Parts: sequence; structure tokens; C-alpha cells
Amino acid sequence: MNYPKKLVLLGATGSIGESTLKVIRKHPDKIQVVGISANQQVDKLLNIAEEFKVPHACLSSEKGSSPTFPSFTELKRGEESLQELASLVDADIVVIAVVGAAGLIPTLAALKSGKDVVLANKESLVIGGEMVTKTAKKYGARIIPADSEHNGIFQCIQGQPQQSIESIILTASGGPFRDLPIDQLQQVTIEQTLCHPNWSMGKKITVDSATMANKGLELIEARWLFNLEPKQLEVVIHPPSIVHAIVRFIDGCCLAQMTPPSMTFAMQNAILFPERHQGVESSIDFSQPLDLSFSPPSMDRYPCLRLAQESMDEGYSAPLVFNASNEIAVDAFLRNRIGFLDIPRIIENTLNLSESISTESIEDLLTLDSETRRIAATQIDLLA
Ligand code: NAD
Ligand code: MG
Repeated sequence: MNYPKKLVLLGATGSIGESTLKVIRKHPDKIQVVGISANQQVDKLLNIAEEFKVPHACLSSEKGSSPTFPSFTELKRGEESLQELASLVDADIVVIAVVGAAGLIPTLAALKSGKDVVLANKESLVIGGEMVTKTAKKYGARIIPADSEHNGIFQCIQGQPQQSIESIILTASGGPFRDLPIDQLQQVTIEQTLCHPNWSMGKKITVDSATMANKGLELIEARWLFNLEPKQLEVVIHPPSIVHAIVRFIDGCCLAQMTPPSMTFAMQNAILFPERHQGVESSIDFSQPLDLSFSPPSMDRYPCLRLAQESMDEGYSAPLVFNASNEIAVDAFLRNRIGFLDIPRIIENTLNLSESISTESIEDLLTLDSETRRIAATQIDLLA
């Protein structure tokens, strides 16, 4: 391996961005940051540019102030600059740690330039899975999964032929309301929802974990990453979040991947793959009692999981509609405009009101994405 690998980190100021930077601080001889981006968090981006002496930075939002970056950093603004950064000639690896549908275009740009793409952004695969995987194939680019469950599967299937996989099983903690009586769910507050029992993450994915929309998105993500049929994908509740994923092989053997619940493990594995080096954090402590329990999820408690599975079964653009309506509903919930159980209501109504289309055009996908957001916003106005 030629070190240091040159890395672009899109979404550097977020939670996955922070985990990535922890890995880079641990291995400065192996990774050099050559580009960083954020949406609007200028001050945080500036600090990262200074600490890691980053030559290229991008603020994808055109709004906000323009502080003075160090002379060694060239700062650009706007969505086109984000695409430029994603395909920076100098880079070997592009980490996509942007949240939401905004991850799709830079992911495609990075793949088209043949880079190794470390993909944390799951929404890009949910809305454009076929396009993303075809683009990777066409341009000979690798997608290395960084979502913890998918990175776990990626580790378990190394060296195993595709036809030996019976199914894969994603674990879910069940979120903060796993044991709350269902009739109390509508009243839960934003603060309670953002209080995840195991993981510290960005706001949107933390709400998605409480509704289990996150696990639904991850099923669709896994389908594309590992080229599987919907019936080969399972979900199990595993409260401690130590086992991240299990691969069931056709001979009945199951391989599982385990770490404590922190994203530094998956990020390091993905960035330094196929090499292993000392980790940022301590591994599992087996000198203490460890309860690794598993139970099936209740679809009554987690309607978002059911809706994601239904949209995955329907295929075409139904997962895009699921994702866009979920993003709008979560945003409305975080603005205190709707209650917790209104999130699945908005998604279900929007799915019922939207057409599922088959398309290979990015423009069609983006048009449908905006149209879906408009329908979901109307549903929110009716409820709020
Ligand atoms: P976050 O909200 O903490 O950070 C998001 C980052 O994206 C920030 O740097 C922000 O500036 C940038 N961003 C936001 N909107 C943007 C836009 N419109 N255009 C360009 N950049 C934009 O999110 P996060 O929790 O770090 O999650 C990032 C992605 O990784 C999500 O897709 C999430 O599902 C996935 N993921 C997160 C975790 C986790 O532990 N946080 C785990 C697995 C997967
Ligand atoms: Mg995950």
C-alpha cells in the first residue's frame, strides 16, 4: 500500500465526519486530508482546515458569511464545487458523510472519477441504488460500506462466494422507545427522541433510529451493496448494539461482526481496507458479563420499518418516495410541527399519493424527489 492515502471528506463537520477525523488523527502517516466540505458550518470547517492543513474546502450552501480561511486552503461555494471536490484529481478515497438525498450527486461524481468511495450516506443508495451500483461498475470504482451494519457484512463476506449467502441479518437497538407502551408514542418529545441509548449520531439518523426508518433505509442500502433479493434481508432487535450484522450462509452457519457501538471501528475498517491497524477505541471487554440478546421487531411498534420493506418490495421509485417523505416528516418533527406517530402517517399518505416510476435518468429522479417533498409538505400542513 502506498501511504499516505489522499482522502476527501464530504460532510466533514457532522457526526460521521468527526469519527473519520478521529481515525485520521490516529493514523496521520497513512491518511492525508486533501478536501473537506460542509453545508453551512463555516467555523467548524475552518477549524478542520487549520488542524489538518487541508488544501481544498467547500461550503455547499451559497448562504452565510465567508470567513478568511488559511492561505493554504482554497475555499469554494455551491453544489457544483461539491461535485468538483468529489472528483478531485489528487484524491484516492472519497468519504461520503453528507446527510440525506444531497449525498447522491457527489457519490455519482466520485464514482465516475474512479475513486474508492467510502459510503456512509445511505440515502444515495435508497434513492438511486441501481444507478449508483451501475456507475461504480462502469467506471471501475469501489464502494466500501461505512454504515456499521454494512461494514460488518462486508467484513463477514470477504472471500465467500455470492451464491453461498442465504441471507443477511441487520441488527437494530430498537431505539429509546423499544419498551414504551405504544399508546404513549405520539406524546414523546424531541429531546426524548434524540436521546439514543447506545449511539451518538446526527439528529436526522437519531430520529430515524427511534422510528426504525433507519433500519428500513439500511435494508434497501444492503440490497444494492450486496446484490441481494428483498427476501434475503432480515432485521433483528439487539438492544446492546454490539453485534452489528450477521451473514447466514446456505450451510446454516452464521458469521457475525462485533464491536462496541462507535463509528470509529467501521470508519477505520472502510478507510484502511483491506489492512488492519490499531483502532482508535478499546475493543469489547469480555471480562464483564455481556448480554447479547436478540428478538424480532414488532411491526405495530415500528410502522416505518414496515413501510420501508413494502417500498423495497414494490421497487422502482417507491424507496425514493419513502426516503423523501421521511426526510420531510423528520424535519417537521424536529421543528415541533408534528408528533412522533405522524412521521409514518406522512410517509404512508405520500406513498399512496405518489406514482412509482421506472427510470434511469438522474433528472427524473431529482424531479420526483422534489415532487414527493412537495406532496409530503402538503400532508404536514394538513396535520399541523
Ligand atoms: P450530521 O447531520 O451529523 O452531518 C451531516 C454532514 O453533512 C454535515 O457536515 C453537514 O454540513 C453536511 N450536509 C448537510 N446537509 C447538506 C447538504 N444539503 N449538502 C451538502 N452537505 C450537507 O449527519 P451524520 O449523522 O454524520 O450522518 C451522515 C450520513 O451518514 C447520513 O446519511 C447517515 O444516515 C449516515 N450514517 C451515520 C451514522 C452515525 O453514526 N452518525 C452511522 C451510519 C450511517
Ligand atoms: Mg447503521
